[in-house]
Amino acid sequence: MANLTRDFFIALSNNQFLNTNAKKWGFRLGADKFVAGTDIDSVVSVVKELNNKGISCTLDNLGEFVFEESEATQAKDDILEMIEKIHEENLDCHVSVKMTQLGLDIDQNFCISNMSEILSAAANYDIFVNIDMEKYEHYQKTLDVLAILRKDFSNVGTVMQSYLYRTMDDLEDLKDVRLRLVKGAYKESEEVAFQSKEDIDANFIKACETRLLGDTFTSIATHDHHIINRLKKFVKENNVPKDNFEFQMLYGFRVEMQHGLAEEGYNFCTYIPFGNDWFGYFMRRLAERPQNLQLVMKDTFYTEDNKLKKTPIVAGAAAIGLFALWRRNKKKNKD
Ligand SMILES: Cc1cc2nc3c(=O)[nH]c(=O)nc-3n(C[C@H](O)[C@H](O)[C@H](O)COP(=O)(O)OP(=O)(O)OC[C@H]3O[C@@H](n4cnc5c(N)ncnc54)[C@H](O)[C@@H]3O)c2cc1C
Repeated sequence: MANLTRDFFIALSNNQFLNTNAKKWGFRLGADKFVAGTDIDSVVSVVKELNNKGISCTLDNLGEFVFEESEATQAKDDILEMIEKIHEENLDCHVSVKMTQLGLDIDQNFCISNMSEILSAAANYDIFVNIDMEKYEHYQKTLDVLAILRKDFSNVGTVMQSYLYRTMDDLEDLKDVRLRLVKGAYKESEEVAFQSKEDIDANFIKACETRLLGDTFTSIATHDHHIINRLKKFVKENNVPKDNFEFQMLYGFRVEMQHGLAEEGYNFCTYIPFGNDWFGYFMRRLAERPQNLQLVMKDTFYTEDNKLKKTPIVAGAAAIGLFALWRRNKKKNKD
């Protein structure tokens, strides 16, 4: 059942119609638990509050399914505005971007030109820009873009996903590049990716330990306390300087743990997504953990004094309908 729920939410995250229309809905279905606001002004106070607690941030102006040049140009302009804001407000904050958002699916050179403008503006203010890693179909293209950008810019890095078989080889190639390590958020085939939690976790730990013994800065991005505790021990035993790495978690998740790690003296960074294009991001978070669904269901369906709200019943019925339709199609495709 857990796999079925995961597949369902991943399928929704990939649905272009729902993604496009969600932009018009504003925040619904409890998305504001995990998405900090709809524009840069609404997230500045969130960043400041975290900075005051000794936590740095990375801002992601959400955007997916970009197939028109005008949309990619708009995304670039929004990110440039965000960089100006980070500088003006003196925020302890870097930037996360997706290459598809800047036109990777349209034309590689166009994407590189957008990203060069961003990196150049960010470099003026000594701001780092991280390239999020997307589905495997974009993986090599993203690494190709990174390699070209690295010829002119040093303030750029990317993400490695431990579910991929090739991660350890790519880590070797990218040993001088600042990286974020994650387990991986998409559904990938067994031709390219480990499928079991044990294998993905083992590869994640191996990747983290390898990086921690190297010289280049690494962001360890996980909410998994078993792994975090194990790595804290590893760091102590191997005298890894605290300035060589940070822990990262997503906005809205395990907030007490985020604050606790910062209080213990670890570098900590919260990944803050914002913007109208929240649907795909939100669905991937629901896919990762059934408990996330319970959390938002409670807020969406019940008032503070535990009374059932009426309007979300329609949304609930629609969700059940979509699930039934998706299962029927899945079964049909199998037959
Ligand atoms: C900062 C950041 C950036 C990311 N960037 C990318 C990216 O660019 N590309 C990409 O593909 N993926 C990205 N991801 C997502 C990532 O790949 C995983 O899908 C996601 O983090 C879930 O894996 P996990 O390691 O956090 O924990 P899981 O493997 O989901 O959970 C492991 C265990 O941790 C505990 N746990 C986890 N979450 C919670 C919780 N909320 N409350 C209580 N216990 C919990 C539970 O015991 C659970 O069994 C990013 C994640 C983070 C944190």
